Amino acid sequence: MKKNNKTLSLVESFKINISGIKLLMNKYPKMLISKIIYIIFSTLTPYIDIYLLALIVDELALGKNKERLYFLTIITLVQLLVFSLINALLKSYVDTVCSDSYLKINKVLSDKMLEMDFVNVDDIKTHELLSTIAQNQNGGGWGLFHLLFDCENLLSSLLTVIAGLGLTVTLFIRKVPSNNTDLQFLNMPLISVLVIVLLLLVTFLSPILQTKGSSYYAKASNEHNLGNRFFSFFGFLGMRKKYAADIRFYHTEKICDYYNSNKESTFGSNGLFSKLCKGPIGIYSALGAAVSQIFILIIYTYVGLKALGGAFGIGTVTQYIAAITKVSTGLSLLVGTVGGMKNNASFLKLIFDFLNISSSVRVGHKKIINNQKYVFEFKNVYFKYPNTEEYVLKNINVKFDSLEKIAVVGENGSGKSTFIKLLCRLYDVSEGEILLNGVDIREYDYDEYLKAFAVVFQDFNLLALPLGQNVASGTNYDEDMVTNCLLKAGFKNRLDKMKDGLATNIYKDIDKNGVELSGGEAQKVALARALYKNSPFIILDEPTAALDPIAEEEIYNNFNNIVEDKMAIYISHRLSSCKFCNDIIVFDNGKIVERGNHQELVENTNSKYYELWEAQAKYYNN
Ligand code: ADP
Repeated sequence: MKKNNKTLSLVESFKINISGIKLLMNKYPKMLISKIIYIIFSTLTPYIDIYLLALIVDELALGKNKERLYFLTIITLVQLLVFSLINALLKSYVDTVCSDSYLKINKVLSDKMLEMDFVNVDDIKTHELLSTIAQNQNGGGWGLFHLLFDCENLLSSLLTVIAGLGLTVTLFIRKVPSNNTDLQFLNMPLISVLVIVLLLLVTFLSPILQTKGSSYYAKASNEHNLGNRFFSFFGFLGMRKKYAADIRFYHTEKICDYYNSNKESTFGSNGLFSKLCKGPIGIYSALGAAVSQIFILIIYTYVGLKALGGAFGIGTVTQYIAAITKVSTGLSLLVGTVGGMKNNASFLKLIFDFLNISSSVRVGHKKIINNQKYVFEFKNVYFKYPNTEEYVLKNINVKFDSLEKIAVVGENGSGKSTFIKLLCRLYDVSEGEILLNGVDIREYDYDEYLKAFAVVFQDFNLLALPLGQNVASGTNYDEDMVTNCLLKAGFKNRLDKMKDGLATNIYKDIDKNGVELSGGEAQKVALARALYKNSPFIILDEPTAALDPIAEEEIYNNFNNIVEDKMAIYISHRLSSCKFCNDIIVFDNGKIVERGNHQELVENTNSKYYELWEAQAKYYNN
């Protein structure tokens, strides 16, 4: 598990935040720019109010010039009306643009996952990293979301400070008139400097204390992530359909209650957060809040005394107090945001570690030339999975062409699926080469090469969407072709029962009238999807594992008709289903040990095939 609490230097933190801002700006410029415009507008307009109100109060206090008073009042009201309206419009625009920001931020990660080499997707380290990122985001709000809010706060705090200072500068310049001898000391430059220093100290101290408090959240993120995993898994177990039967028979909820309330849980009154809030987080937050009150005391005293001394009128008092308070909140927010960005930097680093996972498969650019016949050849191929020591495929030398229907058989774990994964480039060989028409498959354009294969894996997944869209893997499809593929896959009877035909939703996740499919029915839909893709090479991994014997018989009898002239390879450990194949490749312990048709192989009583056949004959009537 990656650590989140690795401390980054200030420079590293700054750089990584800048990279994060660039990333968001590149991906979602509209979202960021609209936010920037809104923040500039909404932060600056209140200062116009402060300024105009101060003029009105001064005018009221002096009571000399009624026309000027009316004029100021009208201007104030009009600007209030106009700016409030613009503000509201801008806000609703920004809200609309940002309404899917959760999706957008997550899309940054899912887009990367989609374009990533399969070998990396399959790598447990990638999953750990992604899971840590997700936990950081969901549990503590860290990562790109944090950065998004940081950007907003940074800009608004900077503008608040600058505009506030603009209305405040004169406070320190205006002098108490010489006739007021008691308060003359306020004119001393030293007093002004002292007040400024005190204000700054208090202003910075408060957010520093708050940030220190929140750094405990960041430090506890690893523990919290684990607690969050416990919570999200065990806390909602009762709601998961999959576990409903187990719960009823084995009362699994009890063991879950235990894990949810024991020390791993970060929630609840005994949880980690509760302890932190009672301890350092609570203390730092309380100190931060208390310190910020001192600011108010200083500013009221200083402005009040100067006004009392006659340095300015009552209206200007409101202007100074409002402006300085804003400067102070702006500075607090600024310091807090910078601290938050520093805390967030190590979480952003994990995101960049993930986004920077490099691709090695997209190196070739050759096009696959359409041919009557495609020839594949494995030459001295060895393969071991990443992060493992042992070769799972050893010295594979085999040649076959697209006019064949091939079965790959062998015991579980003998390397059949791995062989297929190499063939369709989910993984690249560790040693040796695989050739297609004499060219190393790594030299072909990766995406085009993948397009040439339609594979039905054992653990295929259908989507809770209409049947037709599932088969076509798209929203626009040729209905006749989809129906034809479903019929070929043996789905006719079930299709006839579907009242909305191809428009029938599969599963109930989205549509309460959606239909549930049995394992066998789903497998037929998956097969239809592979047929619809109409690729020259079709690979079926245990294509009939979930089918009943009659459906299985049906598929095999029609196999040639189903896959037509495509090269078809199917993996099976049920040998009875391979009888009709002319070419059977037998795997044992990572090696190809035999090859031939059923008759040839079964006649050799010393063969692995014979051994498997005999073992299975006990269970099946071959
Ligand atoms: P089969 O398809 O014949 O059942 P596989 O090709 O799936 O066999 O597996 C061959 C060997 O490779 C097995 O020992 C299996 O444990 C190992 N293996 C499969 N997938 C992975 C993986 N992603 N990482 C590490 N080892 C794997």
